[in-house]
Amino acid sequence: MTLPSGPNADPSEIEKFSTLAHRWWDRTSDFKPLHDINPLRLGWIEEHASLKGKRVLDIGCGGGILAEAMAAQGAEVKGIDLSAKALAVARLHGIESGVRVDYESVSAEELAAREPGAFDVVTCMEMLEHVPDPAAIVAACATLVRPGGHVFFSTLNRNLKSYLMAVVAAEYVLRMLARGTHDYSRFIAPSELARDARKSGLEIIDLTGLHYNPITRHYWLGDNTDVNYLMATYRSPTSA
Ligand code: SAH
Repeated sequence: MTLPSGPNADPSEIEKFSTLAHRWWDRTSDFKPLHDINPLRLGWIEEHASLKGKRVLDIGCGGGILAEAMAAQGAEVKGIDLSAKALAVARLHGIESGVRVDYESVSAEELAAREPGAFDVVTCMEMLEHVPDPAAIVAACATLVRPGGHVFFSTLNRNLKSYLMAVVAAEYVLRMLARGTHDYSRFIAPSELARDARKSGLEIIDLTGLHYNPITRHYWLGDNTDVNYLMATYRSPTSA
């Protein structure tokens, strides 16, 4: 099998998601957390930008969990990923669900060169912590969104607590995620993501934590960004 050899993709990361591809829509399996948080993140996105009728790009869309949900809200959604297997599953699921999303295997950087400013909204969720150079993805997002449009990120903070919660607890104790899903060294502090976003011309408009209680199995949004967090950004209408 040939793996993508783009300059900003880690073949072992893509392989990891390809191996799990058949499980994308199994709500009880490895991607259960993504299914469980989907309504929360969708609601949070729509608090900032209504999706109906918007051109939306979902970067690192995997099996299409968020992409389909945004399309169901009336957005015209394109989903990109470098795992061909994830995209194959996403396309098949779209046929079953009848929700239309345009999927393509292309890197964010390549698409940014091809279609700058083409999207009203760009989402890049749970993906930055899997790439060698997240700042380059953030820059591509800033290029892909139109002036006056929004870019939404989510990723994992980097500190002792996030290591214990997102790696030790989630992968080893609670077994919510496959072992090896996350590499602590790739976690990104909100200050680092904010710096990369600002450097690319994006203004930070919201930073929110995403929390999980393993006993009640309940997720909620709140101020504490120690572990999982979401960041909303905006490209100034006057930017070039
Ligand atoms: N964004 C989706 C899936 C997150 S899982 C969601 O939140 O529901 C991370 C995804 O990022 C996987 O599908 C993986 O294949 C993809 N990915 C990893 N590195 C990538 C890269 N360099 N370019 C595009 N996608 C990538």
